[in-house]
Amino acid sequence: MAVSEHVDLPRFIEGVKKRNPGQDEFVQAVTEVAEDIFGFMADKVKYHEAQILRRIAEPDRVISFRVCWEDDKGNIRVQRGWRVQNNNSIGPYKGGIRFHPSVTESVLKFLAFEQTFKNALTGLPMGGGKGGSNFNPKGKSVNEIMRFCQSFMTELYRHIGADVDVPAGDIGVGGREIGFMFGQYKRITNNFTGVLTGKGLEWGGSLIRTEATGYGAVYFLQNMLKTKGDSLEGKTAVISGSGNVATHAAEKIVALGGKVLTLSDSEGFVHDPDGITQEKIDWVKEHKTHRRGRISDYAKEFKGASFHGGGARPWGVACDVALPCATQNELNGEEAKTLLKNGCIAVSEGANMPTDLDGVHIFKAAKILYAPGKASNAGGVAVSGLEMSQNSARISWKEADLQQQLLDIMEGIHSRCLEYGSDGKGYTDYVKGANIAGFKKVADSMLAYGVV
Ligand code: NAP
Repeated sequence: MAVSEHVDLPRFIEGVKKRNPGQDEFVQAVTEVAEDIFGFMADKVKYHEAQILRRIAEPDRVISFRVCWEDDKGNIRVQRGWRVQNNNSIGPYKGGIRFHPSVTESVLKFLAFEQTFKNALTGLPMGGGKGGSNFNPKGKSVNEIMRFCQSFMTELYRHIGADVDVPAGDIGVGGREIGFMFGQYKRITNNFTGVLTGKGLEWGGSLIRTEATGYGAVYFLQNMLKTKGDSLEGKTAVISGSGNVATHAAEKIVALGGKVLTLSDSEGFVHDPDGITQEKIDWVKEHKTHRRGRISDYAKEFKGASFHGGGARPWGVACDVALPCATQNELNGEEAKTLLKNGCIAVSEGANMPTDLDGVHIFKAAKILYAPGKASNAGGVAVSGLEMSQNSARISWKEADLQQQLLDIMEGIHSRCLEYGSDGKGYTDYVKGANIAGFKKVADSMLAYGVV
């Protein structure tokens, strides 16, 4: 193989920007990874020669399709759907489906790229993918959601498969939507197979999949605190979001003796100085999931709590630990500084890329315990991987076994981050550790395959 010219980091990023015009989120995600990988590759000519990072930052394929559906009034509606299959070097493509009006090709490409590293970190054989649509489920009837899901799957089914690509849920896609999509897949193909994860327990789902991402983010936080001889007992926590990840992270913080002060949604956040107890979390779950309500109603329901509207974010509330669990770029550099000023010692990301690049640099410079989502929120996809194994073997594992596997997997990811991120003097750069550990596994597999 000829030794190709070694580009430096600025030229590499320039190239990524040029090839992906207007795709800011994708460029941001690649930049964050490349900042660490270029240092790691400096003395490893084999990765440069084989153009590995360039290849990982070019999805295997991006499938884009039209999704037509009829609303309850008989109007024909047209949405766009995508599946981004980023890399399948270590296993079938795996990653969630997001239904949200902010979904674009750039957002899904960034998520599929991040997913590639995350899935490698879990130690399970899963490649990286992501999909979704700009469909907004808010305000839609159950029948409208069902018709949309069926139409979406009518195209998607030809691109996925238990050994090809196994989607799951994400923002706007929970158990109900997975049910509608799995039902349509089964109807079209006449195949009952583990083609989606996050399924209901009666039809091939796994115990603890619903809880796994939020619980996992807290286990990761616990592992980080343990390196400092500390724990969650008595710690105050600020959490953003009020969906699947946020409510389960809150639940685990409370179970481990911490006090949760905030939750949020896209309209603003609630601050409850008395602490958001398990009983209050149960109310939020019911309210957001089944009643499709807003988090602002929390302040009407529970005395002492206040709602801060206009899309306000909770990072100004003083806390010991913070868990961004809503969406990408929801915590910027200024907010990172505010958290530090108020004494925050640890950040564990439940969402994907919630901290923007400025914020990442500020947390790294302050040398706090800061876990990027690709490491700390990998518990969900890890249990999805376990769901795939159970589906292949046509068995269901017990809850206690799965809980233990989740704990072990999160501890394993933490150790992999330490291996490549520790400076040997007491500080661990978890971003660097996660990026290098994830990259190495995928890169070495790609080298084995030659030029494909
Ligand atoms: P979800 O159940 O749909 O909840 C999303 C939450 O985030 C809602 O409270 C939502 O508020 C809020 N949100 C969405 N867009 C927002 C915006 N632009 N500004 C402010 N708040 C916004 O979704 P989820 O499954 O918890 O996912 C949350 C994050 O975790 C995402 O980044 C996702 O990719 C990541 N993640 C999820 C999993 C998983 O297993 N579910 C696994 C790994 C990573 P509204 O109700 O107002 O929209």
